[in-house]
Amino acid sequence: MIHSAVQLAYVVATALFVLSLHGMNDPKTARRGVTFGIVAMVLAVVATWIEVAAAYGQLEHQLWILGAIVAGFAVGVPLSRVPLTAVPQRTALSHAFGGLATGLVGTAEYFVMRGEGIERLTPFRTAALVAEVILGFVTFTGSLMAAGKLQELKWVPQRPITYPLQNIGNIGLLLLAVGLGAALVLFPAESWSALAFLSIVVLALAFGVLLIIPIGGADMPTVISILNSYAGLSAVAMGFVLDNKLLITAGALDGSSGLILSIIMCRAMNRSFLNVLFGAFGQVKAAAATGTEQNYKSETIEGAAQILEMARHVVIVPGYGMAVAQAHHRVRELYDFLKKNGATVKFAIHPVAGRMPGHMNVLLAEAEIPYNDLVEMDEINAEMPHVDVALVIGANDIVNPAARHDRSSPIYGMPIIEADKARTVFAIKRSKNPGFAGIDNELYYGDATWMLFGDAKTVVSDLVKALTGETGMH
Ligand code: NDP
Repeated sequence: MIHSAVQLAYVVATALFVLSLHGMNDPKTARRGVTFGIVAMVLAVVATWIEVAAAYGQLEHQLWILGAIVAGFAVGVPLSRVPLTAVPQRTALSHAFGGLATGLVGTAEYFVMRGEGIERLTPFRTAALVAEVILGFVTFTGSLMAAGKLQELKWVPQRPITYPLQNIGNIGLLLLAVGLGAALVLFPAESWSALAFLSIVVLALAFGVLLIIPIGGADMPTVISILNSYAGLSAVAMGFVLDNKLLITAGALDGSSGLILSIIMCRAMNRSFLNVLFGAFGQVKAAAATGTEQNYKSETIEGAAQILEMARHVVIVPGYGMAVAQAHHRVRELYDFLKKNGATVKFAIHPVAGRMPGHMNVLLAEAEIPYNDLVEMDEINAEMPHVDVALVIGANDIVNPAARHDRSSPIYGMPIIEADKARTVFAIKRSKNPGFAGIDNELYYGDATWMLFGDAKTVVSDLVKALTGETGMH
């Protein structure tokens, strides 16, 4: 009876996980999606708890579950408090914990089953255990390295570290782990089998580190998304070992959504997915800003305000700088003024603007900018030649026209927001420094472009003040 109720709870939780992902497809339903996810998780934990309580009864087993829940809260609550710009590394840490959990459970299960009798280690179960620990431990160390790089920790090298035969060496290591796994499946009872299992664990831990070191710190978000899918697949394998259907379905959802997200990100950055998988990814960063003095034209706040006041069609292109400056609430004020003034105002959303997918959507939603005015790249590009003013706020690579025509540019082929096609471009940034890709941006010295140098929050506040006639400008 209890077993059936628990299975039913798992089915409901699975459905809620699917609905959760579906809800997160669209910002309008995203909150509902998150709620579904929370309910599904609570249901899954409670159902598992009830099953364990019914099977074992002793308080001791329940204390273990309670301890795990407390530990989860102790880690999860502080993690939820990080600023939005640190979410990529926060996500990497969550994956590291997920990978560690599956890896440890897999290792424990292997030795428990061995202790219970070698016949428990059927070929299928052993294969699943090997897959679980390889994926789990690769995710663990890989995600820790990724989080360290994103956080710019001193002891984690930011620069891609490459050496001869790197990929062959890495793939060799992985093949060795898989080979040992195959040997375990075929000869589970041999005296060396426990040692072989532990060697797989060590190889997987090492592979996770080696996989990440050739990749530049700033390229990590895509890698994190791939590690997310490894963590999901590891949970699937764990589900097979523990005969837990919820783990199988939830892991599969996690694995496939991580994979889809990485493919979307690769496309948006014009990177080869295989390159990311095999780690040669960051090397493109070798190209740098030429450092040649270009002619930037600056505009004053008053001058820009006058032109914005006359503009009928304004497109705001937000980027990483708007996120760092936390300028989104000031941008909302600007948006409100321009709308009241009778202009059409839209936000051009590039899929990889900022440092994680959806970064701009989240910020603009926080500032309560109507979602209908957030327009995807392809749609807004068609309008660009008719736009009076494109206001670029802390965005750089995603508006660099070199991506269209300069074959030698590391971002060549990356789809961009075609801000350069607008009649007038105002670009807000603090300096002449390049953006994420480390290259010059010809948009900034284009004929129609005027720079508004300064911190995004300060410049946008000043623009609002100038437009609304308030004094006290910087
Ligand atoms: P960029 O990093 O290219 O440019 C951001 C610009 O913001 C910089 O030029 C910087 O110039 C400016 N800036 C920084 N701080 C401030 C501030 N306080 N006030 C005003 N300006 C500021 O960002 P984009 O959003 O244009 O492009 C995103 C890049 O990140 C792309 O190359 C993308 O491929 C990459 N990426 C994105 C991922 C994603 O999922 N979104 C994942 C991985 C990579 P200055 O220092 O002069 O102020």
